[in-house]
Amino acid sequence: MNALNVAKFGGTSVADYAAMSNSASVIKGNSDTRLVVISACSGVTNLLVELANGVADAKKQQDVLAKIADIHFSILEHLPANAAVDIAINDVLDEVATFATAAATSPSDRLTDSLVACGELMSTHIFTHLLNAQGIDAERVDVRQILKTDNVFGNATPDLVETAFHAQGVLRPLCDVKVAVTQGFIGADNDGNTTTLGRGGSDYSAALLAEAVQATSLEIWTDVPGIYSTDPRIA
Ligand code: ASP
Ligand code: MG
Repeated sequence: MNALNVAKFGGTSVADYAAMSNSASVIKGNSDTRLVVISACSGVTNLLVELANGVADAKKQQDVLAKIADIHFSILEHLPANAAVDIAINDVLDEVATFATAAATSPSDRLTDSLVACGELMSTHIFTHLLNAQGIDAERVDVRQILKTDNVFGNATPDLVETAFHAQGVLRPLCDVKVAVTQGFIGADNDGNTTTLGRGGSDYSAALLAEAVQATSLEIWTDVPGIYSTDPRIA
């Protein structure tokens, strides 16, 4: 069996252009890395949760939407113009606005999952574009086609058999020819509703997908300012 490494990058590792570029270098450094699982850009999930809880004041809602848009477009500014990616981001932002308005009057767990999933849906569009711009043949995969769950919104349980079936049929063949970029944290139930695995769920997604594609290794990358060479509690 060919070596296949899965690499997961959290929110701080895809927070901005510089962080995404670092993560791209990590991917370039290992040709076995052909499945990449990422989180939403740092801070985005919290802003989406705020909207999901219902922001009734229209001006305040606009401010939150503008912050979310700005995080993504300020990364795209550094990349070659790509109309398809701009359209994809704007489409997701339109969905965010529609869901936010609905949540302001009648919030629900189901609506919350559709809303908070938008962070990963956007970060993967941008990161795939960045990888391609850097000469890595990458393709974005909507993980909701692969990672199937029950319908316990906000804390869904993955269906391992269904997930393995779709991962083997769709994801693994793609990983054999290029770098697949997909979302952590989110999935879909049998009716196609978007679900989430709970806050911080991207590590779990990466492990599930690594197992489902029968990867040979899994790396969970994180961004830290430095590492201690000794136990800092020992003077
Ligand atoms: N974006 C999600 C969160 O902030 C999932 C994750 O980053 O693992 O909880
Ligand atoms: Mg985490």
